[in-house]
Amino acid sequence: MTPLRINLEAEDIPIRWYNVVADMATPPPPPLGSDGKPIAPEAMMAIFPGPILEQEMSAQRWIAIPEQVRQVYAQWRPSPLCRALRLEQMLGTPAKIFYKYEGVSPAGSHKPNSAVPQAYYNKLAGTKRLTTETGAGQWGSSIAYAGQMFGLPVRVYMVKVSYQQKPFRRSMMQTWGAEVFASPTDRTQAGRNVLARDPKSPGSLGIAISEAVEEAAADPDVCYTLGSVLNHVLLHQTVIGLEAKKQFEKIGLYPDVIYGPCGGGSSFGGIAFPFLADKFAGEKRAANLRCVAVEPTSCPTLTQGAYAYDYGDASGYTPIMKMYTLGHDFVPPGIHAGGLRYHGDSPLVSKLLHEKHLEALAVPQVATFAAGVDFARAEGIVPAPESCHAIRAAIDEALRCKQSGQPRTILFNLTGHGHFDMASFDKYLSGQLEDYAYPREAIEQSLAGLPKVGS
Ligand SMILES: *Cc1c(COP(=O)(O)O)cnc(C)c1O
Repeated sequence: MTPLRINLEAEDIPIRWYNVVADMATPPPPPLGSDGKPIAPEAMMAIFPGPILEQEMSAQRWIAIPEQVRQVYAQWRPSPLCRALRLEQMLGTPAKIFYKYEGVSPAGSHKPNSAVPQAYYNKLAGTKRLTTETGAGQWGSSIAYAGQMFGLPVRVYMVKVSYQQKPFRRSMMQTWGAEVFASPTDRTQAGRNVLARDPKSPGSLGIAISEAVEEAAADPDVCYTLGSVLNHVLLHQTVIGLEAKKQFEKIGLYPDVIYGPCGGGSSFGGIAFPFLADKFAGEKRAANLRCVAVEPTSCPTLTQGAYAYDYGDASGYTPIMKMYTLGHDFVPPGIHAGGLRYHGDSPLVSKLLHEKHLEALAVPQVATFAAGVDFARAEGIVPAPESCHAIRAAIDEALRCKQSGQPRTILFNLTGHGHFDMASFDKYLSGQLEDYAYPREAIEQSLAGLPKVGS
């Protein structure tokens, strides 16, 4: 019988994370302040603990995973690698399709892979409380869970419109003991400024970031956490790819192509980088490997953005990073894959894409849900709308294999389940979901507002 689920044992949970920086030909460009000068690490000490900053700037190839972190990982890791045999049969393709399923974590996505070590290192460094922002609540719920595992209180600034319209992730965060505020609040200067101008403001991710950072910067006992984009987050996520490699070794296969959804790039870097390491090491099995980041056509950061220095947030609060960006003023349409609505991307993914070690692809919204529904009907798992982007790309690849007769091995990252996104599936199923036109004019307008530094 074809094995449908390739399992590993608890002792196979990786003992170290892989840092792709060690294999880059040149170091990633440093983050800059608004004056255009590189930011001194000490300047970031106000909001991040020492061990996290160290990882953020490290060029060491392997970084040990603390035993306490592995113990929490063991609640759901190693995550399964599954063969989508029923999907292959549905498509009539000679391709072999595999997915790494990250929806088995307590929060239902890959995000706890980084939330757990972030909570651990903060506890170790003596942090008394964590803050963060969240949109639809995927990162907020992951850090609420992780904080609880290490006895660290968590405060989440949740974008007000999501707080009101998506109450279940908020309930989940509160169940794990987090305090959740509808942002903008009157607790911070950033929030009060917005409320003074617009008392009915629905909030935005940019405003929520400003509030969470402000609280952390003002109180030495409080630190800030971020769920994507930064180097240390991608580092933590490499457990996905490291496990997947071991699972493929177990069945004597190796992927020809890897697809992952890409918002801030953490889960994509997490699955792709450990395989890319084989390519950098000149291993024959990886000579023709392709790693493809999949994004929405309505927020096409990697396929239509500029590779330039830009702010990480809409208000210009954060350091300026060299990355693919649509401009920090770019407001993406309200698509249902909330985790992919980000104007920028990971600086590591951006640099590797710019140097052609990675590829990128954009897909329209309705087609991603069609793929998600096909997948659910074949494999039984309802995928997160973000994950549906990778499923679309994997299915299209499998259909090309059917035409050409090539039996490729395809791997995609099933980053989460869609149990909190059923309202979006309802819209798709009742024919009310829309595709958004590719917003060239909006992108050009917002790219004109890039900071004039570090060119
Ligand atoms: C947050 C999220 C993403 C996108 O974030 P990345 O940092 O790009 O990985 C993708 N899938 C799911 C399920 C998410 O929750």
